[in-house]
Amino acid sequence: MGGKNSEMELFDCSKSILQQLEDKNCLLKGLEVFVKRDDLIDDLVSGNKWRKLKYNILAAKNGQFPRILTFGGAYSNHLGATAKACHVAGFESIGIVRGEELISESNETLKRCASFGMQLHFVTREDYVLRDDKSYIEQLHIDFPNTYIVPEGGSNFYGLSGCQEIWKDVPQDFTDVFVAAGTGTTAAGILSGMPEHCHLHVCSALKGDFLKDDIARKLEYGFHNEEFTEHCINRMTLYSEEIFGGYGKHTPQLFDFMQFVNEEFNLPLDQVYTAKAFYRLYQMIQNEEFGSSSKILFIHTGGLQGNFKS
Ligand SMILES: *Cc1c(COP(=O)(O)O)cnc(C)c1O
Repeated sequence: MGGKNSEMELFDCSKSILQQLEDKNCLLKGLEVFVKRDDLIDDLVSGNKWRKLKYNILAAKNGQFPRILTFGGAYSNHLGATAKACHVAGFESIGIVRGEELISESNETLKRCASFGMQLHFVTREDYVLRDDKSYIEQLHIDFPNTYIVPEGGSNFYGLSGCQEIWKDVPQDFTDVFVAAGTGTTAAGILSGMPEHCHLHVCSALKGDFLKDDIARKLEYGFHNEEFTEHCINRMTLYSEEIFGGYGKHTPQLFDFMQFVNEEFNLPLDQVYTAKAFYRLYQMIQNEEFGSSSKILFIHTGGLQGNFKS
């Protein structure tokens, strides 16, 4: 359980290297492309989930809560990350899972959660929709006393702050940064610490353009400064997932692309988030949308645990 050493290991991201993509076949058109390999931090507590959990775990510790509760879908990277992080840091963990038909044996993600001692509660989709609802949360606090609640995906201000910290770990001279998005918390965190001359390309894993407003709301909620929010939002472009059919959807072309990228650039990607984001970047390079002095950073947000789920 949570010894001091293991806990220090939990907050150590030194395995996340900055990998420059080697371009043997000149497919990157002479551009410098780097990947921040947050996927290498840990097999489960990795990527942006590691960054989003960091200050939540510390807050739970400071508040002397014995257990942490959070929410996720059946294949949730966040659920797996939380289960393992809690195990390492010495917390009990509770997962509220979307889908009353599921059991803890239903898939590898849930099995891993259970193996780290996470207590899984399977709820209907109707109940799951209430996960941010004030009275639902109040009821959870009654049902599970002395419990620190982390919102789905770690998408609170602690999550945002953890993602802002990525700027401590990368050089500041990039011109273009690419990141995959679900709730947009990671994107908001990156924007809030981004150097002036940078542009953030946010590749949503979902269809639609609502995420821009969500990101603005997260910044506004976090910093209470409309000017700052606008300044951040003006330096990002949002891309909706129109190519592969939307959230969690894939085509044979996506798997071919993942295999190609792994062989060509030695870069493993996940099928829900990072492969689609990297596909966007790669297409833009092929279409020569960057100037020759561009220096590109792709943030690998992890998610490899969920690959090939079906
Ligand atoms: C959860 C997740 C995201 C989405 O992060 P948000 O902060 O919710 O936008 C992106 N990539 C991977 C691999 C993830 O697991």
